[in-house]
Amino acid sequence: MQQHDLLDEIRRRRTFAIISHPDAGKTTLTEKLLLYGGAIRLAGSVKSRRAQKHAVSDWMEIEKQRGISVTSSVLQFNYDGYCINILDTPGHQDFSEDTYRTLMAADSAVMVIDCAKGVEEQTKKLFHVCKMRGIPIFTFINKLDRAGKDPFELMEEIEKVLGIKSYPMNWPIGTDGNFKGVYNRKKRQIELFSEGNHGQSQVTTMVGDVTDDKLKGLLGQDLHKQLMEEIELLDMAGDDFNIHEILTGELTPIFFGSAMTNFGVQPFLESFLRITNPPSPRNSNQGEIDPETENFTGFIFKIQANMNPTHRDRIAFLRICSGKFTKGMQVNHVQENKKVRLSQPQQFMAQDRVVVEEAYAGDIIGIHDPGIFRIGDTLCENQDKIVYEGIPVFAPEHFAKIYAKNSMKRKQFLKGISQLAEEGAIQVFKRPNIGVEELIVGVVGALQFEVLEYRLQNEYGVVINMQQLPYRYIRWVEMKDFDPENFGVTMDTLIVEDEDEKPVLLFQNEWSIERVKERNPKAILKEISRR
Ligand code: GDP
Repeated sequence: MQQHDLLDEIRRRRTFAIISHPDAGKTTLTEKLLLYGGAIRLAGSVKSRRAQKHAVSDWMEIEKQRGISVTSSVLQFNYDGYCINILDTPGHQDFSEDTYRTLMAADSAVMVIDCAKGVEEQTKKLFHVCKMRGIPIFTFINKLDRAGKDPFELMEEIEKVLGIKSYPMNWPIGTDGNFKGVYNRKKRQIELFSEGNHGQSQVTTMVGDVTDDKLKGLLGQDLHKQLMEEIELLDMAGDDFNIHEILTGELTPIFFGSAMTNFGVQPFLESFLRITNPPSPRNSNQGEIDPETENFTGFIFKIQANMNPTHRDRIAFLRICSGKFTKGMQVNHVQENKKVRLSQPQQFMAQDRVVVEEAYAGDIIGIHDPGIFRIGDTLCENQDKIVYEGIPVFAPEHFAKIYAKNSMKRKQFLKGISQLAEEGAIQVFKRPNIGVEELIVGVVGALQFEVLEYRLQNEYGVVINMQQLPYRYIRWVEMKDFDPENFGVTMDTLIVEDEDEKPVLLFQNEWSIERVKERNPKAILKEISRR
């Protein structure tokens, strides 16, 4: 392959995650992006599957609805010369550490906000992970066809609650339930809203100059006047459009629209694709690695147990960070210092799960894992021992004490727990000086407890006793000569250690965290740990 072909392929890639609080419209927006990408022809009614939404990812629901194979984490499709990879961030009941880890594989993020609800809890958590990585974050304020908060108020909320500057790319007209359309700030024109065919297919929007009398008539005197005043205010008092600040995640471009009716989806997609970055260099033990180097490298960000209960194989999801991948390629598994052949890698096209022949930096492939990979592992084409910056261990928010009901099953119990921990489904903690008969597990989303119980029983034949614990906050302690006996904690705080025997504190409330900080000024308490 010619070098310039490799560069073309990499430069046309856009790999991003859509983040949101449940019900803001992430699934609907994803469907509509697929619709514009020609990956599906008719977007189905999202409503019809409301009732079934329990404990299954949205993607599996889409899969059931349309027969699209997306049990995966990624959808790939082409649009306007771009090759787009959308990463799923499981939400709802299946919110888990995987949701965060997926963000490690994305080059940018699209944040969907419900215009009536503003910035919600889960959005905040996901946003902070994106912010930590310094990736560009684009905001889609959704459900404009319904009454929502005042757009200035929404902007202020984003800036205050999330701590990011914003630049509205368009501005809504009529937000009290009388939505008329948006004003496009770059083109200085009004794009009129029509509900069309209820969002089942692509929409065409009536467009016109803001001073056009006909449009003025359509909006009405009052709305037109209000719009002109608001535009003036934005131009004068708002932040400037600054591409550098967007690309470093300091400023978020805001788009107002309505995913359900398709309004604003296409302009959003086009603008987003143009502004956002192709795969960018990533940090490693050998400095930044340029995605455009020929040497294939990638890291594993997620491991998923096979859906097929008859065998226990797993799929490891690999984000390609540089170069080109070809089927059957032999690579070095750096952490284990072993060669592996990637013979049946899968890729997840919108319509199908296919065996991938080749893939490029920016793409995600699923590789067969006979139990050799760990999250964060690096694969490399040549002998370079590149190790990408570790995937953080995110703070679990739910904890439980578990042990095997039948003590004869202790071996299987420990094996199951250790495999599930390797997959990253749970985090395991021990109390110092207490044996492994009783373990403490931590999870990011409470559903993981159900999954844990189910899988231990079904895959390892172990029935467990589980007692949920009242802890909600975790902090890893960094301190020279940490001594649990002489460390000042509050009565309701528990000292444990993680799998690497690093000291960890479990708290029931934020108040205790502050007290412990005061009592141990030399200790650094961290919310996220690095493997
Ligand atoms: P998710 O949980 O973020 O994936 O949200 P969904 O895409 O499933 O949407 C949640 C609900 O909001 C569904 O009932 C959608 O039909 C509805 N919805 C999504 N987008 C819009 C929109 O633009 N306008 C209105 N009125 N409803 C929407």
